Amino acid sequence: MLGVYVHLPFCPYLCPYCDFAKWPLREGAARRYIAALYAEIEREQPATAASIYLGGGTPNAYDAETIAALLERLERRFSRPQEISIELNPELVRDSDFDAYRAAGVTRVSIGVQSFEPAEIRTLGRKHTVAQIERVVAQARAAGLQSLSLDLMFAVPGQTPESWHRTLRAAIGLEPDHISAYGLTVEDGTPYAAWREREPDAFFDDEREAELYAIAIEEMQAAGYEQYEISNFARPGQRCTHNLNYWENGEYVGLGVGAASFRAGVRSVHTRSLETYVTAALDGRPIPSDAERLEGRKRAGEAIMLALRTAQGVSLRAFKERYGVDVMKDYAPIVARFANTGLLERIGDSVRLTRRGRFLANDVCGAFITFE
Ligand code: SF4
Repeated sequence: MLGVYVHLPFCPYLCPYCDFAKWPLREGAARRYIAALYAEIEREQPATAASIYLGGGTPNAYDAETIAALLERLERRFSRPQEISIELNPELVRDSDFDAYRAAGVTRVSIGVQSFEPAEIRTLGRKHTVAQIERVVAQARAAGLQSLSLDLMFAVPGQTPESWHRTLRAAIGLEPDHISAYGLTVEDGTPYAAWREREPDAFFDDEREAELYAIAIEEMQAAGYEQYEISNFARPGQRCTHNLNYWENGEYVGLGVGAASFRAGVRSVHTRSLETYVTAALDGRPIPSDAERLEGRKRAGEAIMLALRTAQGVSLRAFKERYGVDVMKDYAPIVARFANTGLLERIGDSVRLTRRGRFLANDVCGAFITFE
């Protein structure tokens, strides 16, 4: 199974917490970037993809015709997969966009909602309104898109358990097929990092963040959403194929500035310099990238970390067959430590995070990665 990720890095404005590879939208740069992407796509060997994912940045900073033309290029190289996703900023959606997306093969839209509380939306530096979110969801439904996902964020400064309940209920009330809920991470070098430096109390500590995470799990479960990954919830049959492939340690191709690939045991990440990427792609030179071959214990540790993110956890038999690793034996001290502290559990052939373990997933996963 092969996933194809395409990074579209332009945004109408930059959010103060964001650490992605992104730039303010400028028409000339955006056009030149598409030409660079086309050049990179042309160089790819033809392959059959199981999914295409257009992420960003803000993919719909481009008009729907440009997105359709890009998908057409991608399909020439990777055929038309069953799942094609696009991330959308609700304030930029135009009336006819969904019909155009659907005609171009898009099956799944992921809408960057973050919150249904106007004050929190503003704190995040976003400019959309709740009315725009509702309109966009209705338009996507009317156009017959197969799958609709809403992205939410918790641990936003000023958020309370009550306001988070309201956001979750508003989201669930729109009956999406899928909901992602991520805790805010403050990344070094962002305006949010400077804010936290000045005013640490405005931000959530681990305990208060865990309380919001628990609320999310309860609300989603009560509404019939299955938590199939630490931050992702889906109605039956509506899991995101593209992201599942990452967590199952499948192969993927990343196209565009800063995009990551994993093929034939090698993980590589393109340069995060826009000019370097565009110039290399247009000149037909290799895109400068950092590459690392994942082998032996390192590869197994990464695979365990990814599998632990999922509801199924690590399948012991599958790991033995695929990586030659006996998780219970080769990682015995770690499994014992986290089983004894109630963070890991063994169910049949699987080892997985307990409910409490999901709150502390980074600690557990980190221990597997660094275990020698
Ligand atoms: S819209 Fe997304 S990618 Fe763009 S600045 Fe905001 S968070 Fe970052």
